[in-house]
Amino acid sequence: MDKVEVQKIKQKALEDHIPIIMDDTLGVVDKILTDIKPKKILEIGTAVGYSAICFSEYLAENGVIDTIEREEERVIEARKNIKNAGVEDKINIYLGDAVEVLPTFNDKYNVIFIDAAKGKYPFFLEQAIRLLSNNGVIIADNILYKGYVMSDYNKHKQRTAVRNLRQYLKDVQENPNFETEILEVGDGLAISKRRY
Ligand code: SAH
Ligand code: MG
Repeated sequence: MDKVEVQKIKQKALEDHIPIIMDDTLGVVDKILTDIKPKKILEIGTAVGYSAICFSEYLAENGVIDTIEREEERVIEARKNIKNAGVEDKINIYLGDAVEVLPTFNDKYNVIFIDAAKGKYPFFLEQAIRLLSNNGVIIADNILYKGYVMSDYNKHKQRTAVRNLRQYLKDVQENPNFETEILEVGDGLAISKRRY
């Protein structure tokens, strides 16, 4: 992978105010990926491909990332970025709403990274559990959403998002098949490991 190109992609994404994965969050995910050496990663929320490009370095030989994005303009830019970074053989982008695309998937994934519409997190979790391999890990970004999720302040515009992020945490923490850790890195990260 072309590291200089990856830095350029990151800089442009930041200038364009695209909410790419934060450096400290990326550090944590990198460690998990190093341990797992995944054959297949699923990402929900490609944006311009930055996180997928970063993750692709940790794939097992012949491993692939499937990633879903609903904004066509972003998909076009992501395809260009992925090609420029030299990792187009490792990343498949699906254009569409993940709410519609996920139910059409049936392959199993070792790692699933949820990083899209916060109001849909409980649905994404349901689908992620269905698509996760044994001993797989589900990682959800932005789970603490600027601290709103753990505070009792409830009068902001983001109420629906906050309610659904709380629902996600409740569902995954109550699921006996998962062990969940919540980290205050970036905008909050939930790491859920399947127990079998
Ligand atoms: N993972 C990226 C950042 C993703 S930002 C990175 O770290 O580099 C979130 C992206 O999810 C946005 O581009 C948004 O268009 C997309 N998105 C939001 N809801 C979605 C949905 N329901 N289906 C598919 N994509 C969605
Ligand atoms: Mg994010």
